[in-house]
Amino acid sequence: MKFSELGFEDQVLEALDAMGFETPTPIQQEAIPAVMDNKDMIAVAQTGTGKTAAFVLPILNAICKRGSSDKVSTIIIVPTRELAIQIDQQVEGLSYFTNATSIAIYGGGDGKSFDAEKKALTTGADIVICTPGRFMSHLNMGYFDTSGVKHFILDEGDRMLDMGFNEDITKIANKLPKDRQNLLFSATMPPKIRQLSATLLKDPITINIAISKPNKGITQAAYLVHNSQKIKLIGEILKENDHDFVLVFSSRKVTVKEIVQALNKAGLPAKGIHSDLNQQEREGVLLDFKNRKIKLLIATDVLSRGIDIKGINLVINYDIPGDAEDYIHRIGRTARGDNTGVALTFINADDCHNFSKIESLIGSEVNKLPLPEGFTEGPKYDTTYKKPFKGGGKKNFSKKKNWKPRKKQ
Ligand code: AMP
Repeated sequence: MKFSELGFEDQVLEALDAMGFETPTPIQQEAIPAVMDNKDMIAVAQTGTGKTAAFVLPILNAICKRGSSDKVSTIIIVPTRELAIQIDQQVEGLSYFTNATSIAIYGGGDGKSFDAEKKALTTGADIVICTPGRFMSHLNMGYFDTSGVKHFILDEGDRMLDMGFNEDITKIANKLPKDRQNLLFSATMPPKIRQLSATLLKDPITINIAISKPNKGITQAAYLVHNSQKIKLIGEILKENDHDFVLVFSSRKVTVKEIVQALNKAGLPAKGIHSDLNQQEREGVLLDFKNRKIKLLIATDVLSRGIDIKGINLVINYDIPGDAEDYIHRIGRTARGDNTGVALTFINADDCHNFSKIESLIGSEVNKLPLPEGFTEGPKYDTTYKKPFKGGGKKNFSKKKNWKPRKKQ
């Protein structure tokens, strides 16, 4: 199938041509006709499948047909600032030959950016891409006229629910016109996503493009290693191999900071990215990494989904992600497109059981490599061992007043 067969306006086809997109990806082939037909849709699809263009293209096409208006017609809600910026960049590219305007609205900016966002919302940018909290702040001020909203899109729905945004999403949806189109994208389909879909979507089309298997271009291996050996092991890996563009993941921001410090001390220049950095710092670090000014980046799971940086040839999991699916997201940062890459995971004694869950999810055992010469022996791969629970009695946290799920770091 070619994009020219999908019935797009000339301005949209011109942009596709300029961006070098020739054939629609599977999700685009399925989703574009349904979205153009103004249907509600739930799509289970991960980053890398072309899901952004799957909703941006038909919406831009609709804007071309209707003409740009002085009211916001499209609201795209996303979990993180990075994703908001990235989607806005795709919208900018794909809308280049149209009159459509867009803005990314996310927290962490200064008063000036708040004013610019207010202006865009009141004078009517066609497409608004926003994080839930910041958007709620604008909505609560009362100046945003929602009556022109025709398309409401939730991207990475499962992640937004994990981050505790369910209430914000419902509040936002309740303020929008009832006859709008709703599109829900999610990497996974847990019960809470089914529930959200049932309350939000009307007679939706369901599309499932989930890849719960890692890309074949990734060579995966793991080391059984004690925590005290991990920094030294990174040093050895970097010394022995020709990996020049490396992303290291850890689940916790304190660990990210510790790794950065330890690596710098060991003479390996590295930077960290995590939620304690302000917006400008995060963007700066990401840009330096994209431009290869930094070749060793240590990140929390903020980066494991959604971010499309080409050329990363090694991903190291310094620890095991809490959620087995996050493993696939993390290692998917290497071997983008047709490239190949290596993903190495450090497993300590406490993590063996969780790593075995990852192996079942991906449907294969990951090769366990011996530690390099000069290392004392690491732990055994004992998947029956579970770290003893140190907490007190079981508490019903969900009944606690003002309780919110912990935000992912
Ligand atoms: P996404 O899954 O939306 O994050 O898209 C992943 C990457 O694929 C982005 O860099 C897009 O620019 C690119 N992309 C999306 N659709 C196409 C297409 N039909 N042909 C080539 N590249 C595409």
